[in-house]
Amino acid sequence: MNNKEQVIVITGASSGIGEATAHKLAGHGFKVVLTARRMEKLKEIKDTITSNGGEALAIAADVTKVEELHEVVRKTKSKFGKVTGWINNAGLMPLSFVEKLKTDEWNTMVDVNIKGVLNGIEAVLPSLIDNHGGNIINISSSAAHRFFPGGAVYCATKSAVMMLSEGLRQELAPKYGINVTSIEPGATSTELMDTITDEDILEKLSSMKEMTMLEAEDIAEAIYYTLSQPKRVNVNNLYILPSEQQ
Ligand code: NDP
Repeated sequence: MNNKEQVIVITGASSGIGEATAHKLAGHGFKVVLTARRMEKLKEIKDTITSNGGEALAIAADVTKVEELHEVVRKTKSKFGKVTGWINNAGLMPLSFVEKLKTDEWNTMVDVNIKGVLNGIEAVLPSLIDNHGGNIINISSSAAHRFFPGGAVYCATKSAVMMLSEGLRQELAPKYGINVTSIEPGATSTELMDTITDEDILEKLSSMKEMTMLEAEDIAEAIYYTLSQPKRVNVNNLYILPSEQQ
């Protein structure tokens, strides 16, 4: 399918990797649907895309509320006639040491990082099955491969997303031509660390600031590569680390 025929929904499009992906895909002619909770940010990004000649739609939605994601699909079809791909990118990383029992943060990570992905799949899958093809891209993390202190729950959520992606791929790609990809980035310079409240973690992470991290655009490029492949190619996993990350 050529780029102009693709209509891609991006969750968590109001900042970081989602925002960079929206610009990258729109710049290559894809129609993009931006969704997140902060509508003001989405609107600014949409306006920039359209003023550069791209096509975009902004819809406020919380990935923990599946009805809102069904509404995203309805509005996308109403504007662009179809949806051809869905990027489950929304995520949070409030790292903390387990002994601190920050259970509200654990639950939020499960709700957004795991259930939010399942909600996205529930919302989009019937449309992709009807189309006899499409793409689902899930943003997992290098945290799915390696544990780091304070990351017990976060790493568990991202491992779940990576394994879920392989299950989806096995069930959906051969039967329906729906290609499924897990992208596993290492440290990337975004707002992700802003959700950390554990001061001991913040102190530990301050040393990371000396490292040259990935830019959100580097992951957007990987997403563009994935979506540019012919239908016969399923890009299963892309595990991408900053050169300086151990
Ligand atoms: P950002 O914090 O910049 O982006 C996170 C996005 O998720 C925001 O757009 C935010 O939008 C959205 N979001 C959070 N909660 C919800 C919700 N309940 N409903 C809808 N949207 C929500 O971080 P990144 O760009 O880094 O994160 C994107 C993905 O990449 C995440 O899944 C993250 O785990 C993953 N990742 C990031 C890495 C990194 O080092 N940065 C490394 C590996 C993976 P809003 O607040 O407007 O709702």
